[in-house]
Amino acid sequence: ATRPALLQRAADFPILSRPVHGKRLAYLDNGATTQKPDAVIEAERGFYRHSNANIHRGVHWLSQHATELYDAARTSVQGLLNAASADEIVFTRGTTEAINLVAQSWGRPRLTVGDEILVTHMEHHSNIVPWQLLCEQTGAVLKVVPVEINGELDMLAFDGLLGERTRLVAITHVSNALGTVLPVAELTAKAHAAGAVVLVDGAQAVAHTTVDVQAIGCDFYAFSGHKLYGPTGIGALYGRRALLDAMPPWQGGGDMIRTVAFEHTTFAPSPQRFEAGTPNIAGAVGLGAAIEYVRGIGLERIAAHEHALLEQATAALADIRGLRLVGTAANKAGILSFLVDGIHPHDLGTILDSEGVAIRAGHHCAMPLMTRLGIPGTARASFALYNSPADIDALVAAIHKAQRMFGTRGA
Ligand code: PMP
Repeated sequence: ATRPALLQRAADFPILSRPVHGKRLAYLDNGATTQKPDAVIEAERGFYRHSNANIHRGVHWLSQHATELYDAARTSVQGLLNAASADEIVFTRGTTEAINLVAQSWGRPRLTVGDEILVTHMEHHSNIVPWQLLCEQTGAVLKVVPVEINGELDMLAFDGLLGERTRLVAITHVSNALGTVLPVAELTAKAHAAGAVVLVDGAQAVAHTTVDVQAIGCDFYAFSGHKLYGPTGIGALYGRRALLDAMPPWQGGGDMIRTVAFEHTTFAPSPQRFEAGTPNIAGAVGLGAAIEYVRGIGLERIAAHEHALLEQATAALADIRGLRLVGTAANKAGILSFLVDGIHPHDLGTILDSEGVAIRAGHHCAMPLMTRLGIPGTARASFALYNSPADIDALVAAIHKAQRMFGTRGA
């Protein structure tokens, strides 16, 4: 098979040229957050230097200019997700806030005692806890689709759990802990056939694959800008228009109203209805720049690049005696979780760090999944468009070094 040509874009990311502990930085913690290209850093800085004003309220030129930039960012998100309309995009602080918005605005007025919310056993805490809170508030019940030991979803169990009381199915697109890619279109079709609404947590998907919310067919799709080479504190919720239009506001304040009187207040249409107060304007502009950056490279190319790295890294790690890969689903994104005999993931992470290799160690905000797998946590390497085979070589060399230090090197 012909290998995809590897991208060489590390030079776009200034932080990658800074050494860490005197070593070349191999940044493999992209599941936690990605680094930012100059295009994003300059867009945010440029906004403050040339365009800063509050939006939606100015008669003056700068305010109108800032509003245009903010609206253009919304259109970029629409393009990224292939939403039918920019009005279906609500800016949020990130995935977590987007999911909480759906729980409180869609779920709280609708759900009642005995209604069911279906999640999977591999969800991130931010796609579990908002539903637990909602269940406490409404008397709804949280049901959990089991996960196979290799990290795949138990599809038969999903079918079995989907019932007439199921009101909402909330599933991740890509598991942050294991890299499993879920068949979200298929799951959505089944959920819709059962009359349920579907939310997809796209936090680990948008930077790594093309996403088309119309092709998936889901009702809500949430993601964070900072995992997509954009700033922190900005993300978005896609919501199907008919649903958003029928949802009450969840936070009140300026910018989300039509008229306010002490007797009665009326609300702006979506998406403004869900964006109370001055939003993260500069963050949205930065996110827009990040989206244009990745679309300029092409998400297919990025996916092919990361897949090649995943294959290389999977083979290299499988060769290390005493190392066990956790999560071996057939369809995976560029995330590798693993355990090394005799070395706690935190100790491993610390030794790797001293070699300039940044990974994550722990439960990855997926404690129920770790409990299911019978482990306290894993070491996790996760890839981005700027990673290279040299980063994987550094990872492998650092793991060997840790094994030598712990005297656990099998070979
Ligand atoms: N869902 C998944 C699958 C994630 O990986 C993350 C971030 N680790 C989140 C949700 C939460 O994202 P944020 O903290 O940016 O809101």
